[in-house]
Amino acid sequence: MKFKIKLHTQIIIGLLLGAVFGSIFHVNQNKLVYISAGNEIVSEDWSEVSFIRKDSVINTFDSKAQISIIKIFKSIRDKKESDDLKISIAYPDGRKEMIENVTAVSKVSSIGVMLKPIGDIFIRLLTMIAVPLVLSSLIVGAASLSDLKHIAKIGGKTIGFYAMTAVMAITIGLFFANVIHPGKFMPEENRKRLMETFQEDAQSKIEENIDLDIVDFIVNIVPKNPFRAIADGNFLQIVFFSILTGIFLSQINSETAKTLLGFFDGISTTMILIVEKIMVIAPYAVFTLISATVAEFGFNILQTLLLYSLTVVIGLAVLTFVEYPLLLKLFTKMSVFKFFKSQEQVIAVAFSTSSSAATLPVTMDICEKKLGVPNRIASFVLPLGTTINMDGTALYQAVAAMFIAQVYGFDLNLTQQITIVLTAALAAIGTAPVPGIGLIMLIIVLRSVGVPTEGIALIIGVDRLLDMCRTVPNVIADSLACVVIASSENELGELNVD
Ligand code: ASP
Repeated sequence: MKFKIKLHTQIIIGLLLGAVFGSIFHVNQNKLVYISAGNEIVSEDWSEVSFIRKDSVINTFDSKAQISIIKIFKSIRDKKESDDLKISIAYPDGRKEMIENVTAVSKVSSIGVMLKPIGDIFIRLLTMIAVPLVLSSLIVGAASLSDLKHIAKIGGKTIGFYAMTAVMAITIGLFFANVIHPGKFMPEENRKRLMETFQEDAQSKIEENIDLDIVDFIVNIVPKNPFRAIADGNFLQIVFFSILTGIFLSQINSETAKTLLGFFDGISTTMILIVEKIMVIAPYAVFTLISATVAEFGFNILQTLLLYSLTVVIGLAVLTFVEYPLLLKLFTKMSVFKFFKSQEQVIAVAFSTSSSAATLPVTMDICEKKLGVPNRIASFVLPLGTTINMDGTALYQAVAAMFIAQVYGFDLNLTQQITIVLTAALAAIGTAPVPGIGLIMLIIVLRSVGVPTEGIALIIGVDRLLDMCRTVPNVIADSLACVVIASSENELGELNVD
């Protein structure tokens, strides 16, 4: 008998091996290459690096400051102030080195990150499918929900469920931020270093100038041009357009309408089929993505922000492994173990891609084939959930806002914390289901409680890692909602989880 490992197990193995590979072949955090007059000068294990201009030291860095050295050099160079800059490097054995005319400073890459293009192709393939899938499946989904009343009922339940879980998630986040107080323990020196290092990154995000005006927000859900919404991947607008089209397509009783529905149904089925084929490379892709992230991740920064990162991760763990099972038990008869077992692929893809949109095609496939959710519910609830339901992101935004406030010495009172609940819930709805947007939307939450927005510089360094973590509950909650709603409609089919 031929022994075959199941795909979801292969993906988990890929993930674990990727983490091991990435940590073995990690990018050396104490090694830098300086380009000076076309020559590469490699420096390793320094004890201190100083930037000197006109005989005075403008910055000094210790042995752990690899990222700061790169970023601050870049900002000096971008301001065209690097011409007369000298870099002095001191080593523990007393040696000193002086480099002039430096044009670039970078890390030395490793094999751990070199395979990443395979992972990037995987993410692009899944993202390529997301928009046509949301469009076609929502049109078919909305059209198959027989009448307006039915759509309103399912839509109301879906939005209600999502709103409830978002508020619960934010409350969990605020609870842990209040109990652990991660921001109270940050030494002033670390704060300064983080602010200095990530100031420019933070500024460019703040400049995106995001404001949350509820009226504007609602107005903007209506696309002026649905084709532009599709081209830009504006999920909220695509959702709006597709639901409307689906509803009214089902009202037309003609052959043309049937043909059109058949057309969208064909697109949606084809997309799901493509996903199943793409998933064949998932174990390798996940391996390369995780390996690259682990290899490149600045664990020095993680140390500085350990308490904050732990607060977010503990909150996300409670959300995923306490709140969700409770809701599953409360609203359905499904086994918690089987539910989570079915989610293995979904979790691995969400974690390695940090994108709910890229994960959507996989979630859809699993919900229909393994959890017994009928297509008409899955194709309505999941695209909507991917777009508006981001419990993990909402929780993270609440903790991040509290953390930044604590570092700056603000004591947020109850009213301000309630403001965080409301704005984080809305900000999470407005967050596009792609990597890193949660951080940008955090600016809205900070503004709402008067915390300095440049404070996001403090947390940018660990955002990639936390993005991976928060995307997991974001997508599990979509599957959960799907099961809960199908069960409430008595439409949950056979479980097919092994
Ligand atoms: N990466 C998240 C997602 O796709 C969004 C975010 O929090 O940045 O669900």
